[in-house]
Amino acid sequence: MFKHDKALLHEVKVDCPNPNYAAMLQEQLGGPQGELKAAMQYLSQSFRIKDKEIKDLFLDIASEELSHMEMVATTINLLNGHNLDANNATIGNIEAHVLTGLAPMLSNASGQLWTAAYVNESGDLAADLLSNIAAEQRAKVVYEYLYRQINDQGVRETIDFLLNREEAHNTMFREAFNRLQDTGSLKDWGVTQDSKLYFNLSTPGDQYFNANNPQPPKFNSPNQN
Ligand code: MN
Ligand code: MN
Repeated sequence: MFKHDKALLHEVKVDCPNPNYAAMLQEQLGGPQGELKAAMQYLSQSFRIKDKEIKDLFLDIASEELSHMEMVATTINLLNGHNLDANNATIGNIEAHVLTGLAPMLSNASGQLWTAAYVNESGDLAADLLSNIAAEQRAKVVYEYLYRQINDQGVRETIDFLLNREEAHNTMFREAFNRLQDTGSLKDWGVTQDSKLYFNLSTPGDQYFNANNPQPPKFNSPNQN
C-alpha cells in the first residue's frame, strides 16, 4: 500500500525560471539514471525477495525515490514557469515545449521517453544489489554533472540534497550486499580453477594487473568490521 503525504520530502525552490535548466533536469526525472527508474527498479526487484529486512530496505528506498521524483518534477515545473512562451529554450527537451505545454514529462533531457528497459531485474539478490549500487553511483555522477552546469542556487541546494541521499542508498545497498556472502549466485563463487584464471593479453609489456587469487567483491569500508 502506498500513501501520499502532501509535504515534499525536502523543500525545493529556484532563483528564477529557466527552461534550459528545466530541460537538463529532465534527465533525472525520466532518464536511465533518474528517479523514476530507481523507484521502479527497487520496487520490481522487491517482489522476489525472501529476506524480510532486505525486502523492507528495497521498498523503503523505492518509496523515497518516488519522493525524489516528486522533488525533481516540482523543480522542473518551477524552472519552466507557467508562461508557455518557450522562446528561451534553445536546446534539449523540445518535446516538452511542443507536446506537454512545458509540464514535467517522463522523458530524459533530450525528450526520449522513459522506458522500462532502464529497469534492471535479475531475480538474484546479489546481482540486483550490485545493479543498485551501480545505479546509485551513476545517479550521483549525473547529479554532479547537473550541479556544475546549473548556476541556480535554489536548484543546486536540491541537487546537493538528492546527491547525498543517493550516497546514503548506495551505502545501505552495500551493507545489504555484505550480508549476502555465500548465498544465491555468490554461493559457488570462485570454486573452480577457471574462475581464478587471469589472461594477460596485453602485449608488449609487463603484466601490470596482478590477479593470482581474485576474491569475491566486498564493500566493507576500512572502518567497518
Ligand atoms: Mn533518488
Ligand atoms: Mn537512490
